[in-house]
Amino acid sequence: MKIDVHTHILPKAIADFKAKFGYGGFIQSPNLKNVNEPIKLYKDDGNFFRNVNYNCFDIETRLNEALLNDVSIQVLSTVPVMFSYFAKPNDGLYIAQYLNDDLACSVSLNKDRLIGLGTLPMQSTKFAVKELERCIKDLKLSGVQIGTHINDINLDNECLYPFYEACQDLNASIFIHPWDMIGQKQMPKYFLPWLVGMPMEISLAINSLIFGGIFAKFPKLKVCFAHGGGSFGFTLGRINHAYHVRPDLCAININEEPNSYLHNFYVDSLVHSQESLDFIIKIFGIDYIMTGSDYPFVLGEKYPGKLINENINLTDSDKAKLLYQNAQRWLSIGV
Ligand SMILES: [Zn+2]
Repeated sequence: MKIDVHTHILPKAIADFKAKFGYGGFIQSPNLKNVNEPIKLYKDDGNFFRNVNYNCFDIETRLNEALLNDVSIQVLSTVPVMFSYFAKPNDGLYIAQYLNDDLACSVSLNKDRLIGLGTLPMQSTKFAVKELERCIKDLKLSGVQIGTHINDINLDNECLYPFYEACQDLNASIFIHPWDMIGQKQMPKYFLPWLVGMPMEISLAINSLIFGGIFAKFPKLKVCFAHGGGSFGFTLGRINHAYHVRPDLCAININEEPNSYLHNFYVDSLVHSQESLDFIIKIFGIDYIMTGSDYPFVLGEKYPGKLINENINLTDSDKAKLLYQNAQRWLSIGV
């Protein structure tokens, strides 16, 4: 059995948000006429965004592929390009509702196999909380996916406190995914925004939540960071050291060293090498890592959970934790 906490999905039809709102920046509806060919996604200015396959849209295809890999449950979230945090708050709310309605429909038809994480208009905390409540109470989603930062603010910003409070109250799981990578202009080649920027984005988000005192203020949050915590794990020693030698900068909002907050969050297992998997288990603990594949994208783990299953240092009981038991706890679902 496996629960894959990191998979993405798009609606088969995407509304023409540019026409509706009067400004652009959105992904156009896909052309799904030839489902056996790569499907080109375009932005509404005509620029090519990314090739994807039919499994990014089609529930039946993804459920069949999941079964082939012994994935019992996929946790679905949108593709981060759809966050649209740049949009006007009202428009962001409309987009989130559009995506969440589509997601909830797919999940409700496949309750045993799919779990949904909604999208929120994080550019307005008020609307984000409103849509979060709808996601959990009405649409029966298990939580939400948000970005590693929101436009110009990081995740420690006080304006987000009502969001964290609502997540706690609603027992909502929060999946934090890298996007809009800092320094992209300095990384025009070699896929570097994905290789350098994404691991940094995750570290930025973890550091923001720790140093901002978010885990201290909201200890019941159920947070998971993508990509094995990005570059955070390897720099943890430096981060702890900084806390002790520069408390004037690092200890403004917290009274304990960053190490103390490691069990306030989960990370997924998407690290692509046994050495890295062993390392994040050592850093974060066997109870705080969950299978995540980034399905259906090429930079993900093609056979979800393969790295875990093939790790010679893990017992069967360790593997059960990584493959599904930790996810059951994070998602508050029964054993
Ligand atoms: Zn992803």
